[in-house]
Amino acid sequence: MKKRGTDTEILLKRRAAIAAKAPDLREVLRGTLRSRFVRCGKSGCHCRKGRGHGPFFYLSVAVGVGRTIQIVIPSQEGPMARGYARNYRRLRQILEQVSAINRQLLRQRTLLARPSGLSGKRVPRSRRS
Ligand SMILES: [Zn+2]
Repeated sequence: MKKRGTDTEILLKRRAAIAAKAPDLREVLRGTLRSRFVRCGKSGCHCRKGRGHGPFFYLSVAVGVGRTIQIVIPSQEGPMARGYARNYRRLRQILEQVSAINRQLLRQRTLLARPSGLSGKRVPRSRRS
């Protein structure tokens, strides 16, 4: 039993450490950032010989089954959008890792016995009396 308690402590510490690395929820963007060069088609334009104008950045994002939209991103906003997209992927990883730990705690029957310590502080507004 003592070992199990120690395991639980380790899991709780790991969970807290992982959750602490979560990016700002306001700074996430689902989708894939891509860039491309385009040829304008005007005769005599330098782009006919080179790789084209650009690069133009755009976000490709699946919205619903079999439907993908593309949003053009001004080049100056490219790095920020890239960072947001990275945050989204990171957040998904973190959610998966925390969820996996919570599954272990659930199996040990220690999930409810050992709350995050945040309950009481983070009770949803609707549940408050
Ligand atoms: Zn051109």
